[in-house]
Amino acid sequence: MVPVTRARTHDVVIVGGGLFGLVLAEQLATRCPASVMVVEREHHLGGLCWSRRDPQTGVEYNPYGTHVMATSDPRVWEWITGRVRMVAYTHTVHAAVAGRLVPLPLGLEAIEAAYGRRMSPEQAQDAVERDAAPYRDAPADSVRTLALAQVGPKLYEMFVRGYVTAQWGADPADLAPEVFAERFGISYRPSSGYHPEARWQGLPCGGYGTLIEPLADHPRIEVHLGRDYRQPPSPRYRQLMVVTAPVDAHFHRQLGPLQRRSLHLNWQVLDAGDVQAVPVVTYPDGTSPHYRSHAPALLPWNGAHSPSDALLVGFEAAGPGPNQIDFVLRSPHNEELAGKYRQLAAAPDVLLAGRGTTFYDDMGTTIGHALALADRLVPDLT
Ligand SMILES: Cc1cc2nc3c(=O)[nH]c(=O)nc-3n(C[C@H](O)[C@H](O)[C@H](O)COP(=O)(O)OP(=O)(O)OC[C@H]3O[C@@H](n4cnc5c(N)ncnc54)[C@H](O)[C@@H]3O)c2cc1C
Repeated sequence: MVPVTRARTHDVVIVGGGLFGLVLAEQLATRCPASVMVVEREHHLGGLCWSRRDPQTGVEYNPYGTHVMATSDPRVWEWITGRVRMVAYTHTVHAAVAGRLVPLPLGLEAIEAAYGRRMSPEQAQDAVERDAAPYRDAPADSVRTLALAQVGPKLYEMFVRGYVTAQWGADPADLAPEVFAERFGISYRPSSGYHPEARWQGLPCGGYGTLIEPLADHPRIEVHLGRDYRQPPSPRYRQLMVVTAPVDAHFHRQLGPLQRRSLHLNWQVLDAGDVQAVPVVTYPDGTSPHYRSHAPALLPWNGAHSPSDALLVGFEAAGPGPNQIDFVLRSPHNEELAGKYRQLAAAPDVLLAGRGTTFYDDMGTTIGHALALADRLVPDLT
């Protein structure tokens, strides 16, 4: 990473030093002679997946919430494991319901909790399908209608309604069905983790910094931290600017703002006796002031769980606050407005990419998209 002493013009400016921007910067700098400037508003690299070591407990944690890499894309996994040692880890998120912890996504354990009895997978499927059948004629045009048709009212009430309302700040009847389709699903087997479909999953040994920071360590990459690209002086480029900042902000919200929901995380050090037994717990019954809590000391960042008497716990709640994350709501209004903003992106020398434009991509997809964009750009920059 070249320290910044004066303004220079680079071949490519990348706005945002999150995963997308840094994967792209690394690819361009190593695969063609282009010089690259990364402009990042925060004072750290990594964007949402940034992790750091808590000075009090020594625990590695994601200030914006637990991030686990999960992918089935061989190119993405090869790219990751070529840069950092990954600790194999099967992530499970648990829901605190009816006085116990139930693994998600919805599976046999969740069905047993909702119906209050032990069941075989066949009995579970019969019960859920019987209860869901009356809802299958209605159009599946919202989280509520799709969830009722797929999992029936018992699972909907126990696991979906309160959680979705707390996370998205909207009635499930007003949210696009994709929120349910992408985040829930149902299986009738015992849980095999939060990402049962993923071929590979894990955590970078030592934290995301070990993956992220070396990406910018190249003589043709110059990083500007603490700089908002919209503030003068505008970053200058010879060929191309790639913007991973929010698409509506890029266009000065000229068509109106996308509707967003803010969440924040409060990190506290608690006595080990008061800490949850698993890394991530959600509270879907709607009675808890926070809807998710994170205990990163229970993640195998270094190949083993970190022993500690005082543990760091992050409480995730709705609204603005420390470690704030702003989600773009999945709603018909936003889908339409986002489409219009994407159409505005006609300038051939400005590309909009990353989560600021796609909104919901996970890290594996983000890396895949950045590699694919580099494939497209490299021939023209050579
Ligand atoms: C709570 C939460 C949990 C998640 N958990 C997982 C998980 O477990 N697994 C997974 O695979 N994915 C997870 N994700 C998704 C993951 O965070 C994203 O896929 C990934 O971080 C996207 O990277 P990005 O670079 O596109 O965006 P970002 O990380 O958002 O990076 C964009 C960067 O642009 C910078 N920026 C914005 N505006 C400006 C400006 N005006 N000037 C300069 N810089 C600017 C931002 O500061 C930021 O650093 C999670 C997301 C959230 C919100």
